[in-house]
Amino acid sequence: MTAVLMDGKSVAARVREDVADQVETLVEQTGVRPGLATILVGDDPASQVYVASKRKSCVAAGMLDLHRHLLATTTQRELEAVVDELAGDPAVSGILVQLPLPDHLDPDAVIARIPASKDVDGLTTASAGLLARGLPGLRPCTSAGVVELLDAYSIPLDGAHAVVVGRSALVGKPLAQLLVARNATVTTCHSRTASLAEHTVRADIVIAAAGVPGLIDARGVRAGATVVDVGIHRTPTGLCGDVDFHSVRAVAGHLTPVPGGVGPMTIAMLLSNTVTAARHTVSR
Ligand code: NAP
Repeated sequence: MTAVLMDGKSVAARVREDVADQVETLVEQTGVRPGLATILVGDDPASQVYVASKRKSCVAAGMLDLHRHLLATTTQRELEAVVDELAGDPAVSGILVQLPLPDHLDPDAVIARIPASKDVDGLTTASAGLLARGLPGLRPCTSAGVVELLDAYSIPLDGAHAVVVGRSALVGKPLAQLLVARNATVTTCHSRTASLAEHTVRADIVIAAAGVPGLIDARGVRAGATVVDVGIHRTPTGLCGDVDFHSVRAVAGHLTPVPGGVGPMTIAMLLSNTVTAARHTVSR
């Protein structure tokens, strides 16, 4: 068997087109154009690239780019004041603080100031609580992107056994909750899990979000299973994920490549969250 590759680039492009349509509809119906406020503190090169890409995608989808670039010497109080100002600004639909922040700043305290209604990264405790309780809210972008990608390839979730490898607040934990909400039976594995492959090999869907290159190989995948690789690692020969792509491709039914799988879905879901946030703001 050779796995069908799940093309995150083309699914993300479809999501972005759909978001652009939703933006124009919202503008026609309400006169409100959604606006995304990204906040970058300092000049970390990788963060600059990520933020630039988010801003470009936001403009391409017809939304306002309300970016703030702050000096690396910005104090906690100054940064929190900027978040508070954006939180109170009706032109701002969504707020995203690019992480990591410089070492002298406390990211948790900054993120806690983002109202759940503008939390387009889905990372606040309030958003996590809404997800845990199964209430409507903005979901973390990468986790939501994985579910969107599974849906795009019509992978059944209802009654499926999914194994999520990783339990971070950013990816693994919210993803497990999103899958449970879709009636999957979910096993969460982590660094203390004994005999990881014995769990993953029983799964209909394996989602690798451990940050360990090549952690999942063919021995941990049942024939025909769906394997989603969230991991991203830079190597001298290019990017790779948490899945040993070549061995797993020979046994899996569906597989995401790295790059071009989950990565493009993350920004697409950020845009989707921003238009959702804008719609809720005008309907309140
Ligand atoms: P993280 O915060 O480092 O969490 C990693 C999780 O994996 C932890 O729960 C850890 O367990 C678990 N883990 C580590 N080693 C393991 C092992 N040998 N066996 C089983 N579980 C293991 O990382 P993250 O932020 O969730 O990100 C995970 C990966 O996804 C990274 O490669 C990251 O770059 C990538 N990522 C990609 C995107 C995207 O857009 N594609 C977005 C976000 C993250 P413990 O809890 O026991 O420590």
